[in-house]
Amino acid sequence: MFFCYIPFTIYVKEFRENEAQNNIEQMINLQQLFIENWFNEKATYIQTASQLPAVKEMDKEKMKEAFESFDHNHDEFNGVVFVNKSGISEIDTSGPIGIDLSDRQYFKEAKKGKPYVSDVLIGRQSNQAIIIFSSPVLDNNQQFQGLVFGAVRMDTINEVMKKFRFSETGQTYLVNRDGQLLTDLRFPQSIKQDMESSSIEKIDTDILSLAMQNKKVSQSYQDYSGSTVFGDYRWVNDYKWLIIGEISEDDIFNPFYRLRMLLTVILLIVLMVGLGATFLLSKQIVEPINAVLKGAHRMGKAKYDYRIKPSSYAKYPIELQELGETFNEMAEMIQLQMHSVQKSEKRYRELVESSPNAIIVHQEGKIVYANPASVRLLKFSSPEDLIGHHIIEHIHPDYHEVVKDRIQKLESNEAVNLLEEKYIRSEGSIIDVEVIATPIEYMDKPAFQIIIEDISERKLAEQKLYEANELLRHLSSTDGLTGVKNRRSFDENLEMEWQRAIQNSTSLSLIMLDIDCFKAFNDTYGHQGGDECLKLVAQTIKNVLQRPSDGVYRYGGEEFGIILPETEEEGARKVAENIRIAIENLEIPHSSSKISQWITISLGTTTMMPTKCTPSMNLIASADKALYQAKHDGRNCVRSYPQVNIGNSDFTKNNTY
Ligand code: GH3
Ligand code: MG
Ligand code: MG
Repeated sequence: MFFCYIPFTIYVKEFRENEAQNNIEQMINLQQLFIENWFNEKATYIQTASQLPAVKEMDKEKMKEAFESFDHNHDEFNGVVFVNKSGISEIDTSGPIGIDLSDRQYFKEAKKGKPYVSDVLIGRQSNQAIIIFSSPVLDNNQQFQGLVFGAVRMDTINEVMKKFRFSETGQTYLVNRDGQLLTDLRFPQSIKQDMESSSIEKIDTDILSLAMQNKKVSQSYQDYSGSTVFGDYRWVNDYKWLIIGEISEDDIFNPFYRLRMLLTVILLIVLMVGLGATFLLSKQIVEPINAVLKGAHRMGKAKYDYRIKPSSYAKYPIELQELGETFNEMAEMIQLQMHSVQKSEKRYRELVESSPNAIIVHQEGKIVYANPASVRLLKFSSPEDLIGHHIIEHIHPDYHEVVKDRIQKLESNEAVNLLEEKYIRSEGSIIDVEVIATPIEYMDKPAFQIIIEDISERKLAEQKLYEANELLRHLSSTDGLTGVKNRRSFDENLEMEWQRAIQNSTSLSLIMLDIDCFKAFNDTYGHQGGDECLKLVAQTIKNVLQRPSDGVYRYGGEEFGIILPETEEEGARKVAENIRIAIENLEIPHSSSKISQWITISLGTTTMMPTKCTPSMNLIASADKALYQAKHDGRNCVRSYPQVNIGNSDFTKNNTY
């Protein structure tokens, strides 16, 4: 409604303005017609008078008679005058004659044979505003014989102009080109001038300058009296006179303003009534909504007992009654749910509190909860000692990097694996722990829960087990008497070196050695003496071997095997010879030996380029063969078989030395 009001008032205002413009235009058109008619009529009267037979014949008596009757019949004329061809007035119905008028414009025009209408003049006798209409007198031969003129009083126009006044301020008036007023004004006093000022005789307003430029009046302006008016104009009397029609703006708009006031009052009344109705209606809607809102607020503060009284929503519209009922049902359900959540939360808390496992909740970069077990584990006196600190403060620096990475993942709600790490207790001791960390919600905010299990004891047991295994492994591969590796280890390592040599395409040498006449040694010096000798021999072999990859093994009884990876035939023989000399140089007395007074050994060497098709056993067989040869050749010497081709195990060539 309010939005209709503004365009409506604009429309009405424009309508009023156009109507006023049209009124003025019509009025001026009428006046233009009237004035033009008036002129034509007066001019025609004088012309008719100048062509009367009495005038043409210069019959002065008749002429005078005719003029007097004319003057009598035409009230607007202030006398009719005949002027002879010398310019002297000869007949005058209203004044003296014999006046020389030859200098007058109308005389000059008449001499040229032309009629003439003067400007507004002030009559000599009447002292009134007049206009002179003149017409030349020509005789039958068309010769100039003088002129007839009549003075017409302006007030005759004035009277008519007054009749054209309209509305409260609408008027028309005549001015000449100088703005001189030719007719009376409806409001002769300027509203701007004070009371003593004289009446206006001349105007100098916008409309005059517009008329002089022949421009259209397109907007309101200030009239001679200073009030804002709408107006229009027409030129008449051969552009000598200007008809101006004007009406004050107030006059046009007052009805509009009254209408607008009326509309405003109606609008206000409607608005008040509307507001009242809306208030009543909204009360019906707002009240129940407020009740629901109040309930929602209470629930937001964890108070779930609020219900809307059924008696209070019985008066609401059906939809709002439903809203009330639904709210109550919802509140009931939430209360039940919350109750069970609170119960389960309480149970969870009790569980966590009594858990033997240390449980810590970490949120926003600090510990926010620590159960009694965690306090005990880290040897603090109360949870408050832990709360507010970052968990990293209790973690061994070796694990800082990995833990920071895990925290980052947990904070982005990612799961992380179980981790074994070390924690530092309050008094500085270090414990091994196993940590399970999981993202959780704590007090409605994201957090993560850390379950810490003390695995110190388990770790200790693991360490002991490892050490026992290591010992077992060592024992199972070592010969108890000599301390060098045993036969089982020999078999394993030979196979391993065999495979490595295949892979690297390198040669592998093996020395098999046996103490000479050892049975006799035992027999002479006893088994204990034999054992001591075995130990000494094993240690001596060990000392001779240079490379860390070389390995000595007790093959069985008084027999030893030496594996030499990446060793050529020549090298193997050299090592064997060095060992032989070293044992001989031990000068262990052996009185019952057939070949020396000292303990001696016999050695067989062999070297092969292992292949996938050859078994490692070939190497043992070959070295055994060489050892057999050494024994055969008198003992305390080295014998070897040269490298044999793949798959060729034929040793009958007897190329030993
Ligand atoms: P050959 O010069 O031909 O090697 O003669 P040998 O007596 O050394 O050879 P034989 O194989 O006949 O005897 C080996 C002896 O080594 C038998 C055993 O009395 C002795 N023997 C084997 N193992 C041990 C041991 O662990 N301790 C002692 N004390 N003697 C051992
Ligand atoms: Mg022997
Ligand atoms: Mg033997």
